[in-house]
Amino acid sequence: MQYSSLGGHSRRVVSAALVAVAGVAVCSVTSAHAQSSLPGSSAGSSAGPRCVIALDPGHNGEDTDEFDPVTGVRMIDYPNGDEDADALEITRAVESRLALVGIGTEVLKSSVDDDVTYRERVDRASAAGTFMGVSIHTTPGAEQSAIFPQRQGGYRAGTDAGGEHRTVTFDDPQMAAESQRLSGVVAGARSVLEGGEVPVRDNSFSGREPLWEGNLPVISLIAETPWIYNEFGSATGGGADGLTAAEKERYIDGLSAGLIAAAATSPACTGIGS
Ligand SMILES: [Zn+2]
Repeated sequence: MQYSSLGGHSRRVVSAALVAVAGVAVCSVTSAHAQSSLPGSSAGSSAGPRCVIALDPGHNGEDTDEFDPVTGVRMIDYPNGDEDADALEITRAVESRLALVGIGTEVLKSSVDDDVTYRERVDRASAAGTFMGVSIHTTPGAEQSAIFPQRQGGYRAGTDAGGEHRTVTFDDPQMAAESQRLSGVVAGARSVLEGGEVPVRDNSFSGREPLWEGNLPVISLIAETPWIYNEFGSATGGGADGLTAAEKERYIDGLSAGLIAAAATSPACTGIGS
C-alpha cells in the first residue's frame, strides 16, 4: 500500500514483456518435466546464490519502530488491515507455482501476526542464499500498480538514534543494475497478465512523517540481495481494504510468470527450461 508516487514510466517495460512472455512459454512447455529439470547448478554450493527467491508478504504483524543496527536507518512498519492476509495468500500461491518449475522460495513472514523487522527479513534472505528478494504489497487505485527497484544513490534521511540527521544511501551499482533488470522482466509479465501497465518507477516518502524522507523502501535500501518491491493497485479496495478474488488471481498470475522469467534469465537458475 501506501506510498505516493513519482512519475516516470520505464521504457524497458515493452521489451521486458517480450522476455517475460518468452520465459513463460518455455516454462509452460517444460512444466510437465519439472521433476527432471530442477534448476540451480549452484544450488547447495557456497560459490554463489541459489535458485531461491525471498518472498516478503505485506506489512509487519505488530507496530515496530527500531533503528537498523547495520545502517542506522529508522525501520518503521505496522499492520495494514486486509493487505497483510491478502499478501500472504498471494505469496503462498506464488510459492506453489514456483515450486512446479523447481524454483525455491524463502518466505520472510509465515503468518499474518509475525513480528519481523526489515533487518531480520533481509538477513533471512541472505542466509538462505537467495538471488532476489520480492516484496508483495497492494494499494488503492487501479493506476497504482508498480515495481520499485533499487537505485544507486537512492536514500532515506532523518533523525537517527543519537538525535543527529543522517542520510543512508544505497551504494552498490551492480546490485542496483540487477534489481532494475529483474524489475523490468517482472513488470513486463505483470503488465501482460494483469491487463494493465505495471511501470518500473521510483517511490517518494516526502511528507510522510514519522517515516524518513527519501525514495527507496527501507527493505530495498538495506537488502544485501537484488530486491524488487511490488504494488498491485486495486480499482475497488487495495491496501487495508483488500483485493477482490479476481484481483488476487491476476496478481498471482502476473507475479508468478514474472518471477519464472526472472529466474530463467538469472545465472543462479541455469537449469530452468533445459
Ligand atoms: Zn503495503
